[in-house]
Amino acid sequence: MTSQLNPFEISQRQLDEAAALLGLSPAMHAFLRVPMRELQFTIPVQMDDGNFEIFQAFRVQYNDARGPAKGGIRFHPQETVDTVRALSAWMTWKTSVVDIPLGGSKGGVICDPRSLSTGELERLSRGYMRKVAYFIGPDKDVPAPDVYTTPQIMAWMLDEYEVITGHHLPGVITGKPVPLFGSLGRGDATARGGIYTVREAAKVLSLDLQGAAAAIQGYGNAGQFAHQLGRDLLGLKIVAISDTKGGIYDEKGLDFEAARAWKQETGSVVNFPGAKNITNAELLELPVTVLVPAALEGMITAENAGRIQAKIVAELANGPTTPEADQILFQRGAYVIPDFLCNAGGVTVSYFEQVQNAYNFYWKIEEVYERLDARMTTAFHAVHEMAEARKVHNRLAAYLVAVKRVAEAVATRGWAR
Ligand code: GLU
Repeated sequence: MTSQLNPFEISQRQLDEAAALLGLSPAMHAFLRVPMRELQFTIPVQMDDGNFEIFQAFRVQYNDARGPAKGGIRFHPQETVDTVRALSAWMTWKTSVVDIPLGGSKGGVICDPRSLSTGELERLSRGYMRKVAYFIGPDKDVPAPDVYTTPQIMAWMLDEYEVITGHHLPGVITGKPVPLFGSLGRGDATARGGIYTVREAAKVLSLDLQGAAAAIQGYGNAGQFAHQLGRDLLGLKIVAISDTKGGIYDEKGLDFEAARAWKQETGSVVNFPGAKNITNAELLELPVTVLVPAALEGMITAENAGRIQAKIVAELANGPTTPEADQILFQRGAYVIPDFLCNAGGVTVSYFEQVQNAYNFYWKIEEVYERLDARMTTAFHAVHEMAEARKVHNRLAAYLVAVKRVAEAVATRGWAR
């Protein structure tokens, strides 16, 4: 990984810029630049063929000044400790920018879940929980789903935790299936929150989104729901989607139900009948109004940013854009809704899930949507106004809003000044 694309170095560079503008003291800056705690461990798993495999895993608690650390667990073959560190930093700024009383953390396992059987996946998930059980807890650090982890995986992990502790403690993990005390509305929350911010961006830009073209990179949980909700809530015409195997394009628009069924049947969106196959790189450069990076980090770089034509870039992925690309997009007048604002809907409904678990009393879906909309809309305008006032790009503005709140909590606790 070149240092230009090392996500942790990128997250530190982003913080450095914000720290200078906020006038943070050297001690405060140094404290916020690195995780507070990290756990690196192995998970031995007996595979279906009887042999053992040893998986490398991480849990990083970046900062818990504003509340229990919060963040998902990623199962990915290319996972590294630096990726997890960066993602835990972004979680810290994410919970802060939407002003929920939580800190930031992240977990990861180096594995390819697509090559594991259901039994192997369950043993790996339970093994992860056995190793982190003493390190996490509803009032310490609360995991959730992320790339390639699912509500079912959260259910196995919850069960393992409750067996270890001997208590019912559903608030130890969020993104659970609804029958096991998950929240209604958690499934599509990341995309829904992002779509609310696109709606607000269109208002401040005086753009009409009805029938406007959009492209979505990545067709996992966030990407698929962005397709559906972009159509249902904003009237967007989704002309391109993609996954790890490639993308498809149809200027007349791609039908959501048919595309999702195709992906389920064939394992990819590629070769969808009637659409043209394109590459992931081509998708980013299409002449669309809204571009939604919903895959992994490091996709929009100095190399391709100059060719991006979208008016709104809604970052449902974590870390899709490098700092060099940010400058280029800003100069070109693209309106970027930065990742830890745009995709904060997931953790916001995770927070609602924890609140409901703590009350042991559950909300209607309408209540979830209404409260999510209020949080996302307030956060969007706080960032937008900061960007206007300081004449900086939206990501830096989001950092200014979020880092200031975390620094205040750190200072008030007396950890650093
Ligand atoms: N993994 C999601 C994220 O990156 C959700 C985290 C959570 O719900 O705690 O925001």
